[in-house]
Amino acid sequence: MSQPSEESVREEVRAWLEAHWNPELSLREWRELLADSGWGCPTWPESWFGRGLPVAMEGVVRQEFRRLGAVGVASGVGSGLAAPTILEHGSDELKRALLRPIVTGEHSWCQLFSEPGSGSDLAGLTTRAERDGNEFVINGQKVWNTSAHHAKYGLLLARTNWDVPKHRGITYFAFETEQPGVTVRPLKQMNGYASFNEVFINDARVSIANVIGEVDQGWGVALATLAHERRLAGIFDEGGVQGEGRAIDEFREERAHLMEPYVWYPQRYGRVDLIVKRAKQTGRIADPVVRQEIAKLLSLARAAAWTAERAKQARRLGRPPGPEGSIGKLCSSHIARAAAETHALISGADALLSGGDGAEDGIIAEVLVSVPGVSIAGGTDELQHNILGERALGLPREPSVDTGKPFREVPRNVAE
Ligand SMILES: Cc1cc2nc3c(=O)[nH]c(=O)nc-3n(C[C@H](O)[C@H](O)[C@H](O)COP(=O)(O)OP(=O)(O)OC[C@H]3O[C@@H](n4cnc5c(N)ncnc54)[C@H](O)[C@@H]3O)c2cc1C
Repeated sequence: MSQPSEESVREEVRAWLEAHWNPELSLREWRELLADSGWGCPTWPESWFGRGLPVAMEGVVRQEFRRLGAVGVASGVGSGLAAPTILEHGSDELKRALLRPIVTGEHSWCQLFSEPGSGSDLAGLTTRAERDGNEFVINGQKVWNTSAHHAKYGLLLARTNWDVPKHRGITYFAFETEQPGVTVRPLKQMNGYASFNEVFINDARVSIANVIGEVDQGWGVALATLAHERRLAGIFDEGGVQGEGRAIDEFREERAHLMEPYVWYPQRYGRVDLIVKRAKQTGRIADPVVRQEIAKLLSLARAAAWTAERAKQARRLGRPPGPEGSIGKLCSSHIARAAAETHALISGADALLSGGDGAEDGIIAEVLVSVPGVSIAGGTDELQHNILGERALGLPREPSVDTGKPFREVPRNVAE
C-alpha cells in the first residue's frame, strides 16, 4: 500500500483540528475525541485508536497540534511503554480494556522490572507468580520504580517457572498496583527528590487475562518494552500547548502532577546549555584551562547530537537499529560527567551551595548530585560496554555461570 504524503497528512490533521479543537471541553472529553479520531496516536493501528501512519508522520501531526496549541494524549510510561508493548504483544481483550484509558489519561502506569537482586541481570528476577485458578498470586519486591506512587497499573515481570533457564520462565503482566498486598514506599535520593519507590508485593492478585504475551514467554516482551524505553525522553515534551481554557488548565495540572518525579532530569544530563553563560557571568571564560574544558565538552556534545541524528534518520529509512543506542547512552554519561566537572571548575565552591544561595539558584549543585543517574538508568555504562563489545565489535561473550541451567539451580545472593 502506498504511504500518504506529508502534505496530505498535514492537511487532514489540520482540517480535523480546526473543526474539533475546543479548549473549553474538559480534558477527558477532548481526549475521547482524540481516541475516536486516531489523531492522538497517529502511528497506532486504525483499529486501536490510531491512524496506522508511519513513524515519520508523527512529527508532522505534532507540528499541527503545536500550531493550533492543541492538547495531545497523556504522556508518560502509559503511552510511552505500556501502550506499544500491549499493541505488539497483548490480546485483543487487553487492548480493549487498557489502551483507551491510556489515551485519555485516566490510567497512569509505572515499570515494575528491577529488583534488589536483579537490575543489570534483569532475567535473574525472583518475584514469583503462582497460578491459582484464573489468577496468579504475586509475591516479591521491586525497586527503583519511578512514579509507582502515582500509578494505577504496573508493567510487572515475575517468575512463573523455576525449572527452565532464567530467560524462559518469566511472565509479563499488566498489574493493578492499587490493591491490598501492594505497598509503595518512596526512596529519597541524594539530590533531595523522591522519584523512585520500593514496591513490596504480598499475595497480590492478577488475572490470567492480564498476561501480556504468553505465560513463561515474558522475556521477549520485556525486550520490546526496553527498546521503546529509548524513545521515552521525547514524550515529556509539552507539545507547545498555549492559551486558556478548561482542557488547557486541566492539562497543565495533569502535567505538573505527572512531571513531578522528572523535574531534575535536565540536571542529570549536566546542563551543558548553562556552561558558556556561567563562564561569562563568572569571568572564568578568560581562563585558558576553563576554555579548553568547555571546548572539549561542547565538541563531545555536538558529536553526540550528530550520532543521534544519524540514528534517527536511519530509523526513518526503516533500517534496523545499530549500535547507536548504546553509543548514545554512553555519550550521555560522559557528557553529563564532563559537564559536572566543568561546572565545578567554573563555579568553584559556589557549586556546592543548594537553593537560592547557590550558583544558578542551586541548579549547579543539583547537577553535581544528579549526573550519576544517567550512568545507571536504562542499563549501566558497563552493560553498554559489554553490548558494544559483543554485538558491535564481535568480542567473545562474557563468561556466564547460569546459561542453560534451570533457574532453581542458579546460585543467588538474595533470599527467596
Ligand atoms: C533514574 C533511574 C530511573 C529508573 N527507573 C526505573 C523504573 O521505573 N523501573 C524499574 O524497574 N527500574 C528502574 N531503574 C533501575 C535501573 O534499570 C537499574 O538501576 C539498572 O538496570 C542497574 O541495576 P542495579 O541498580 O541493580 O545495579 P547492578 O546491576 O547491581 O549493578 C551494580 C554495578 O555492577 C556493574 N555490573 C553489573 N553487571 C555487570 C556485568 N555483567 N559486567 C560489568 N559490570 C556489571 C554495573 O555496571 C554497576 O556498576 C531506574 C534507575 C535510575 C537510575
